[in-house]
Amino acid sequence: MHEVSVVTTLVDAVIKELQRYKVTKVNSITVVIGDLTNLGEEQMSFAYEIVTRGTILEGSEFIVEHEPIELQCKTCDFIGPATILKDPDFDTHSIPVLACPKCGGAVNVIKGQSCVVKCMDIEEAE
Ligand SMILES: [Zn+2]
Repeated sequence: MHEVSVVTTLVDAVIKELQRYKVTKVNSITVVIGDLTNLGEEQMSFAYEIVTRGTILEGSEFIVEHEPIELQCKTCDFIGPATILKDPDFDTHSIPVLACPKCGGAVNVIKGQSCVVKCMDIEEAE
């Protein structure tokens, strides 16, 4: 499961960051996941619960925010969301088209590839 290694890296980074503070409790961690990363939210939450066991993050809430895909066309002036193809056999599966919806030209991906910790809700010792 790809999610486990991603979450492990994320949790390691968070724990390292938290060592700079006198953290007594972590209430929640908010992450931003780009829709292009193909990371499943449920799998992420499940992995988080396992990976954080025995750490300061154990029992904290794992909040996932989605970052929609945004494209910028190299040919015309289009900036906006990608066209999403729905796979009729897989309701949960959608395939973004990485081409300009206006002219079909090549695009730069501006948003949708993130996998970052946005904020941490922690309680510090006085
Ligand atoms: Zn275009």
